[in-house]
Amino acid sequence: MIKTALVAGGGIAGPVTAVALRKAGVEATVFEAYDLPADGVGGVVMVAPNGLDALSAVGVDVGALGHPTTTMVMEDGRGKRVMEFPGLPDLPPSRTMWRSDLYRALNEHAVANGVKVEYGKRVVAVEEGPDSITAVFADGSKATGDILIGADGIRSTVRTLIDPSAPGPEAVGLLGIGGYGPPVPGTGGPEVMHFAQGKRAFFGYWADPEADRTLWFSNLPDRGAMSIAEARAVPQDEWLRLLRAAHADDVPARDVLDGAGDLQVIGSLEILPTVPRWHRGRMVLVGDSAHAPSPSSGQGVSLTAESAVQVARCLRDLPDHASAFAAYERLRRPRVEKIAAAARRVNRNKAAGPVARAVTALVAPVVAKLLTPQRMFGETHSHHIEWDEPVTG
Ligand SMILES: Cc1cc2nc3c(=O)[nH]c(=O)nc-3n(C[C@H](O)[C@H](O)[C@H](O)COP(=O)(O)OP(=O)(O)OC[C@H]3O[C@@H](n4cnc5c(N)ncnc54)[C@H](O)[C@@H]3O)c2cc1C
Repeated sequence: MIKTALVAGGGIAGPVTAVALRKAGVEATVFEAYDLPADGVGGVVMVAPNGLDALSAVGVDVGALGHPTTTMVMEDGRGKRVMEFPGLPDLPPSRTMWRSDLYRALNEHAVANGVKVEYGKRVVAVEEGPDSITAVFADGSKATGDILIGADGIRSTVRTLIDPSAPGPEAVGLLGIGGYGPPVPGTGGPEVMHFAQGKRAFFGYWADPEADRTLWFSNLPDRGAMSIAEARAVPQDEWLRLLRAAHADDVPARDVLDGAGDLQVIGSLEILPTVPRWHRGRMVLVGDSAHAPSPSSGQGVSLTAESAVQVARCLRDLPDHASAFAAYERLRRPRVEKIAAAARRVNRNKAAGPVARAVTALVAPVVAKLLTPQRMFGETHSHHIEWDEPVTG
């Protein structure tokens, strides 16, 4: 039986996996590359009902963080509603929160539940033995356990230790930029999130629950692949000029951008192509290291939480790590790949040229009549994990 686990990465997958492993009887230690917790870093994330369900399966309640998002409104570039999706009956609403608040809450929960978190420990190599695995850190120190979980994000080192030819992230053809702006009359409160397919770019916005202003993001089509560092090197005034030009014909985007400031520049949005190997020997991947479906899915955190819980259930119920990792991959791969494929289609629509955009706008009212919240979100949001149910090989 597996008794100890080394978890590389203290983002979202790391603490949730460690808590789930402890609940499954495995002692887990988290090793985070950065010297300090990620306080105050990152933008906003929405945790969907399936993510809330997975977190609650291992006793994590994020109900006090952020605010509920009860309704999603799809608009055309002129501010006209095309579709409206209330949440599904019998499910709690999604919750929208600062990523840094989520990171902090998950790490605090892990520590309160006896998980040790060590900072400044970047995994750079492994030494594989017949009965154990040793992680080697950038500072020269080492730690040994029964297994190593790669919860080290979209640019995972553990992924390449499992398979040196594993793919890395790909740019989806969109740049992500967000910020604050003046309030938009009739937005309907923070619980209503608006998504507008503008003439040249995609715009999302909602009322800030903390102040009389709008929170927004824009996805600008972009053929290159701009890193965060490159994107942040561009002066904010220049980004504002580009954003205002891209949304010059869009309502309410142009008014919001007129009064916008304090931009948060993300750079190219990324997706992880299919990762052929999720595990090898005593190493396994969880979260964005295995499946990063891109921000357009709204599912990165939620799928990460699901995988974290499922890998722990498999290790709890199956006789050895090899059968547990195989069962985990069987449970998870079809679902995460289906959701990533759907997000790819959304990304393609967002990045489409003017002709394809015009065609999409033309058919949108017809599509709206066919799509129900159940058809749109049912399979993804209703996913439930029964912690106590045994996993069979
Ligand atoms: C712009 C943007 C918007 C998003 N919006 C949403 C949203 O609305 N809803 C949603 O569900 N998801 C969203 N996501 C996705 C979500 O943030 C990710 O799916 C989620 O953070 C994945 O968690 P993770 O723990 O796997 O990876 P991460 O959160 O990236 O954490 C990985 C951790 O591993 C550490 N690390 C890296 N390398 C090493 C190493 N070698 N050794 C030790 N530690 C290491 C890193 O420092 C980091 O702390 C968004 C992502 C982006 C970029």
